[in-house]
Amino acid sequence: MSKKQPVLFIGHGNPMNAISDNSFTKSLKKISENIEKPEAILVISAHWQTRGTSITASDNPRQIYDFYGFPEDLYRVVYNPKGKKELSSYIVKALNEVDTTVIGVDYWGLDHGSWAVLTHIYPEADIPVLQLSLDAGLDEKSHYELGKKLSFLRDMGVLVIGSGNIVHNLKEMGRETYSEPHPWAVEFDRYISESIIAGKHEKLISYKKAGECSELSLPTDEHYLPLLYIAAMQNEGEKVEFLFDEIHHSSLSMRCLKIG
Ligand code: ZN
Repeated sequence: MSKKQPVLFIGHGNPMNAISDNSFTKSLKKISENIEKPEAILVISAHWQTRGTSITASDNPRQIYDFYGFPEDLYRVVYNPKGKKELSSYIVKALNEVDTTVIGVDYWGLDHGSWAVLTHIYPEADIPVLQLSLDAGLDEKSHYELGKKLSFLRDMGVLVIGSGNIVHNLKEMGRETYSEPHPWAVEFDRYISESIIAGKHEKLISYKKAGECSELSLPTDEHYLPLLYIAAMQNEGEKVEFLFDEIHHSSLSMRCLKIG
């Protein structure tokens, strides 16, 4: 069995990053160098929202091209790792024992929240990958609490990855990858990163208290919520390492971090 795994939050941004060579994708390629090879990967993706929480339960999850109007090359990216139905059932059972319902499903597979980043982090696709959905009915605190209940996975050698963005406003996007960031994007990204460093998780949960910069940075919350799961899995005294911290397209925080 692998030793205890860290947890990662990856700001995934534009789907085109799957086939781009830029500062962000270069940093993704280095991440696995400092992590012992995991037994499996569980991705909590911004791109899978459901009623109730679901988990993929298939040994052969399909790759989902969940975006429209992108160049053909993006639809040709193949990333087909195995799933792990047995682990999925184990997780469902373990959560059931703490009165938490998660449903195993085989209609979903890996959306681009998973494969567009894993294709850079683990290009061999030789580690089984599962996905967990975001229950659209939960409040922030409940997402955080669910994250805590999943922390046993770290001891089983499972690498848990939250895939979203701390700042995600598509309407205010700049044309270029390196367009000047909006001041409110910089402000909110800093507010969140300082709260993480200080271990002030209550500030992450009640991020709306940051005021106008939070409203502009997160018109919707699905890209932010995976961060709450990752923060919740931090053990006392564990350090946080920022792996990447640029803001791309003016309104997408590409900040990535590792805990543990
Ligand atoms: Zn996204």
